[in-house]
Amino acid sequence: MIEVKDVSKSFGNNQVLKNISFDVKEGEVVVLVGPSGSGKSTLLRCINFLEEFQAGQILVDGEGVGYVGSAGGSRRRQSEADIAHLRTKAGMVFQNYNLFPHKTAIENVMMGPMLVNKESKEEARAHAVKLLGKVGLADKADHFPSQLSGGQQQRVAIARALAMRPKVMLFDEVTSALDPELVDEVLKTLRDLSNDGMTMIIVTHEMQFARDVADRLLFFYQGAIIEDGPPAEVFENPKTERFQTFVKRFQ
Ligand code: ADP
Ligand code: MG
Repeated sequence: MIEVKDVSKSFGNNQVLKNISFDVKEGEVVVLVGPSGSGKSTLLRCINFLEEFQAGQILVDGEGVGYVGSAGGSRRRQSEADIAHLRTKAGMVFQNYNLFPHKTAIENVMMGPMLVNKESKEEARAHAVKLLGKVGLADKADHFPSQLSGGQQQRVAIARALAMRPKVMLFDEVTSALDPELVDEVLKTLRDLSNDGMTMIIVTHEMQFARDVADRLLFFYQGAIIEDGPPAEVFENPKTERFQTFVKRFQ
């Protein structure tokens, strides 16, 4: 469902992604962990083409991300319409949920499908009701973001991303800005999505969650993947000292 092949990216002289390769199969949950600044967010942003990358290739659901032409030589940017289409395939949720403050929870969820996917209001509303139910907020549909807790707002943001009917979901530290007591309700939503078979890449510092939910764990270090395997294997038998040092911080 997602193929990342030899992707490299630099900001000026700073090479942030160094020949990254991995793939994510349909229904698989891949969790990315690693120190701050190791390139995790940049990678997710490349998958959604919020960032350009200089080398390599990314495919989402079989379609090339960002560029047409060969990976090596004469590639050029896809049309904006193709890029917009691609972004509907990969839903992304960030640390800061950025809901529209003057719209209710359900309006926030309905907006994208109506504007981008040209769904009718009735269709968008019916889907939004279902999704708010799925994230446990059926009774909060008409609340404004300011009337919701951080955890509830983040769950609205997840419903909003799901409303675009994405093929894959990308989560970038979605619990990092939350008060500790609100973290679990958002992690539960991610677990539910995983149980529903959603293909996901999750960047998180929640190690227990990573162990429980990941089919595969990737450890990022200075722009490279230096551990890759089932979480039980990586946690019990890490290949690198760096991973051991990293996880000690969370124990
Ligand atoms: P992580 O998500 O693992 O904390 P990031 O992907 O955010 O790491 O950042 C990786 C590196 O890229 C860091 O050195 C960061 O400073 C740099 N970086 C990220 N975004 C930009 C940008 N827009 N311009 C320049 N450098 C950036
Ligand atoms: Mg980040």
